[in-house]
Amino acid sequence: MKRSESDRLFEHAQTVIPGGVNSPVRAFRSVGLKPLFITKAQGAYIHDADGNAYLDYVGSWGPMILGHAHPAVVEAVRQAAGKGLSYGAPTEAEILLAEKVISAYPSVEMIRMVNSGTEATMSAVRVARAYTGRDKIIKFTGHYHGHADYLLVKAGSGATTLGIPNSAGVPQSFSEHTLLCEFNDFDTIIQITQEEYPGEIACIILEPFAGNMGFVPPVQDFLKKLRALCDREGIILIFDEVMTGFRVAKGGAQEVFSVIPDMTTFGKIIGGGMPVGAYGGKKEIMSMVAPLGSVYQAGTLSGNPLAMAAGLATLNELFKPGMYDELARTTGRLTEGIRTIAQKTGTPMTVDHCGSMFGFFFSGSPIHSYEQALACDTARFNRFFAKMLEEEIYLAPSAFEAGFVSLAHTTEDIDKTLSAFENILRFMAYQ
Ligand code: PMP
Repeated sequence: MKRSESDRLFEHAQTVIPGGVNSPVRAFRSVGLKPLFITKAQGAYIHDADGNAYLDYVGSWGPMILGHAHPAVVEAVRQAAGKGLSYGAPTEAEILLAEKVISAYPSVEMIRMVNSGTEATMSAVRVARAYTGRDKIIKFTGHYHGHADYLLVKAGSGATTLGIPNSAGVPQSFSEHTLLCEFNDFDTIIQITQEEYPGEIACIILEPFAGNMGFVPPVQDFLKKLRALCDREGIILIFDEVMTGFRVAKGGAQEVFSVIPDMTTFGKIIGGGMPVGAYGGKKEIMSMVAPLGSVYQAGTLSGNPLAMAAGLATLNELFKPGMYDELARTTGRLTEGIRTIAQKTGTPMTVDHCGSMFGFFFSGSPIHSYEQALACDTARFNRFFAKMLEEEIYLAPSAFEAGFVSLAHTTEDIDKTLSAFENILRFMAYQ
């Protein structure tokens, strides 16, 4: 397969952009390869600079649930662009998108648009701190909430609950209020909230389905127990649905588990591929935000008309009858197929999905925690990833990312993927 043009662009990019990319995971470093440079995308396929077409399971890391360049979305953006790119003043489209999101999320009574998931989580935590008058927050190891200083904290090897920044450039003091817990380990959360820091925790922020350590669902009743605990302790429960919102179900993970968070963060799908994030929740909490309240949060391009148009057009299509059933059916065909192939080829694998979000680990036992995820066979994943790419199937270039199916993925696309899976796993079984 020809990659010379991508390689040339990558060489060039590295002279002016750190690592040649504008977001680290794109660099393919963890899988030991060089990134593909993309020239266009249509439906379920992305095309690289060498003219190769790949069946895409990344979908721009989540937003492209309709498939790439969906005609309704492209047309909506085209029309909006003809009327000016940004006004820095309110528009009706912002109300329409706010209402659309609110209609699917009963927990959200008011919502503020921002420009990325990072901004959404950062702002939600600020509001939670202001609302409770407390400083400390709990996050889970392996969960990603964007790159705000105090959220860039994970556990070191000896799982510590005190925040140690794991990016250079973050002063220790910036993350001293970040407490770490293990996803799906309710006992530690009880201990931290009730014994170690009673009355000090402003919020618990989590990915209700983890998607940034591979795809890891919550264990039975974990979210329900968190909800009850937060009620008891006066802690704001923030579901970071940047990835899961409108993805695992129309109403996100909160609909799947019937658990109502106090605040929710969004991104990805609600922008239809444009830079959008949002945070929302109960009116009483969101009334803290300026200019209504004393929590400052702003954005020159927030609610940008092109982004609102793309988001609205995407949700309009998604809300048509049967769309979520179709997404779940297609994705179920994929994960069922992978499971069968793993059994047939004797490959230890764990596979799961909810709606159109899926993931697999090269591990024979179920994965519930970050540590278990880290212990899976990444070397095998890396070999597998490279082979899939040769078969023109584009998975996320890391063992610790979820995959996404779009409405543009056909049964034939899934079967083509499964056939590549089977050939490669058979081949690897003899390595
Ligand atoms: N939260 C979650 C759950 C995410 O998956 C991401 C990004 N993948 C973010 C927040 C940050 O979003 P952004 O990259 O738009 O800043």
